[in-house]
Amino acid sequence: MKLSQTKSKKIPVCVTVDIDPDDEIERSVDITLKLFKELGVSATFFAAAEYVNQKIVRKILDSGHEVGCHGLKHDDFENFDKLGYLDQKRIISDATTKLRGYVESKNVLKDHKKNLCNSKLIGFRGPRVKINKHTVRVLKELGYKYDSSVCSQRMDVFSSNLINLGWLFAPRRPYMMGSSSPFKKGKSGIIEFPVSAFVLPFISTTMRLFGCGFMKVFLWFLALESKISKKPIVYLMHTKDFTCKKIPFNWDMIIPSRKWITHGFPLRFWLISSSNPKNIKDNRNLIKYMGKLGSFRLVSSLSKNSEQ
Ligand SMILES: [Zn+2]
Repeated sequence: MKLSQTKSKKIPVCVTVDIDPDDEIERSVDITLKLFKELGVSATFFAAAEYVNQKIVRKILDSGHEVGCHGLKHDDFENFDKLGYLDQKRIISDATTKLRGYVESKNVLKDHKKNLCNSKLIGFRGPRVKINKHTVRVLKELGYKYDSSVCSQRMDVFSSNLINLGWLFAPRRPYMMGSSSPFKKGKSGIIEFPVSAFVLPFISTTMRLFGCGFMKVFLWFLALESKISKKPIVYLMHTKDFTCKKIPFNWDMIIPSRKWITHGFPLRFWLISSSNPKNIKDNRNLIKYMGKLGSFRLVSSLSKNSEQ
């Protein structure tokens, strides 16, 4: 798929998939790719660099999707809303070197000659969707073009960002981020594609909690907004949605701890956990409905015409 596509009158829908730390990463990526093939979806994958390899990345690119960066280890240290410039530069540089080695390797470039957009690493999403002004500076220095970490008007208690005032007032449509704040319009050179949200985020975790019927109604309202404002719909899911299991209740989940500040309420993991067959079924239903309301687009294919 080329960087600038022909303009479609249909609402652009970006299915974005985070590849988080996962013991069964090859299997979860395979299930995701199979589902997307069945549904005719082109998607944007954001990979934690330490958890993927050349084989996995190649498989994703060969299936017509694109790959962006989702941090290096996606561990407790990678809270990009708190880290300073030097730490972020080191971590994102290491992740970028690894991923560019896979995405832009000579073999991939040779085979994707007519398909250049899939073979460039230009997109970023912070682990646990956390970023700050230093992230924006580092992304610019490392040649990134877009980010998708801001959840405009998300205010739910199921977030790992318990309080993020930046999200409350961030623009809903794609915008060029400011150098002094990623939540405001500016001239940093990095385009933000906000994850769709309205109080609750439009992500697979919300579906686990409220069900597919609720998400379809949510999608219908987002589509209505997009018809008026031309805003793309950005859905966030994870490959490990398809290999996870229902987790048992543990009393530690309700005992307050300092970790709640960076990781959110642990009880939410129990509340939102569900079996992988249910997650596959629900995502199939929801994504099918997305296909009826709009057309699937890679985030990079929108980034050229979104500067405001
Ligand atoms: Zn993640």
